[in-house]
Amino acid sequence: MTADSSLTAPGVEYAATASEAYRAALAVIESVEPRIAAATRKELADQRDSLKLIASENYASPAVLLTMGTWFSDKYAEGTIGHRFYAACQNVDTVEALAAEHARELFGAPYAYAQPHSGIDANLVAYWAILATRIEAPGLAELGAKNVNDLSEQDWEKLRAKLGNQRLLGMSLETGGHLTHGFRPNVSGKMFHQRSYGTDPETGLIDYAAVAAAAREFKPLILVAGYSAYPRRVNFATMREIADEVGATLLVDMAHFAGLVAGKVFTGDEDPVPHAHVTTTTTHKSLRGPRGGLVLATEEYAPAVDKGCPMVLGGPLSHVMAAKAVALAEARQPAFREYAQAVADNAKALADGFLKRGARLVTGGTDNHLVLLDVTSFGLTGRQAESALLDAGVVTNRNSIPADPNGAWYTSGIRFGTPALTTRGFGAAEFDRVAELVVDVLKNTEPAAASTGPSKAKYKLADGVADRVHAASAEILAANPLYPGLTL
Ligand code: PLP
Repeated sequence: MTADSSLTAPGVEYAATASEAYRAALAVIESVEPRIAAATRKELADQRDSLKLIASENYASPAVLLTMGTWFSDKYAEGTIGHRFYAACQNVDTVEALAAEHARELFGAPYAYAQPHSGIDANLVAYWAILATRIEAPGLAELGAKNVNDLSEQDWEKLRAKLGNQRLLGMSLETGGHLTHGFRPNVSGKMFHQRSYGTDPETGLIDYAAVAAAAREFKPLILVAGYSAYPRRVNFATMREIADEVGATLLVDMAHFAGLVAGKVFTGDEDPVPHAHVTTTTTHKSLRGPRGGLVLATEEYAPAVDKGCPMVLGGPLSHVMAAKAVALAEARQPAFREYAQAVADNAKALADGFLKRGARLVTGGTDNHLVLLDVTSFGLTGRQAESALLDAGVVTNRNSIPADPNGAWYTSGIRFGTPALTTRGFGAAEFDRVAELVVDVLKNTEPAAASTGPSKAKYKLADGVADRVHAASAEILAANPLYPGLTL
């Protein structure tokens, strides 16, 4: 596999320097609360010792991680660049402007907003920016007012009712959509009348004709594309055509696959940024930055997105915006393209490894960074499979599959992602070995009865399997160390 760029920056004695920095930092923390220092050391050890296959996780570089531990954490900076509600924000302005500039350049977006603290915040900013642009602004104009504070109590109530009476069409949860795409447990489901589109029951793929038919019938204000657990690429040009036909705003949530967009694996119709009116993302998944969110927008939506604070957000996390700038700078390096391509190639190798060992995959494979394994073919629920794999040091998460017979809690699937282990240096051969180890665990796991009757959580992993898989994975992990040379 390609050497990783940002974790082993060429020509930089990063390992010795980062080791020194972390040793000093942990000594300082230890002097105040030793248990936190101990948990921090243990977290690194645990991450080093396990096969991290959670599709939404990664390993950020020491540069990104170190950037978060600074005095920017102490600064309030409500408002936006050059227009703050607090004094002395000149350095935060520098940081936020750099994060936005890197994001614009990397993704080719006219405008970028670096303040959202997470993916859910980014989506909330996007939803309210769309509502502000398409409902609030024309509503104010109709009433001859410039500002919501100029409205009478009665007019304000009318406008509020209109804001709360809009429609959103997004991908269903069980076919891979995300909670923030209009589902009732999330605030997005309470804000909007929601309908979902699913996938073709035969192929498992998005049926664009069905999406178009649902859009014509439902006439949403917002069409959401993007997913958390769909193992295929999306044609965003087609999604935009559907949105345009019904007068919807196209919002693409690329939280999961932003790294593949940044690394130019997804181009043309598969690159959401030129097609969407608004694109949201997290920065910590395949993009390999700090935990956080970003919003990209066209000129039309930029002014409303720029009011994310105070519309939805409070004071920005300036230390995290600084780390976003560092991570985005890393993602602009040529080596990130190699990384992103390897993430996709490795997902294929993992999928092929499962298929040749007889496992069933949702959609029959992958062409992005994730693989969704149907574990009913092993006679297991997702919950049983997830627990047995964890016993063997394989960290994954259970996930619904389309028409899931076991519901959203126990589920029937396991989602695997390649971004994290690709960062460690795993290539196709290592991912084939991972598939072999996973199948070994699942073939040797049986559902077990609970004392009160059958349980979808209880399982029995055959003796010796966990040890065997631990030993095999220890070998591959040792050959592909996490943060090579970093010693605490
Ligand atoms: N959108 C999608 C598609 C996601 O997969 C996720 C997280 O899993 C989010 C949004 C929310 O991100 P966060 O956990 O940073 O709020």
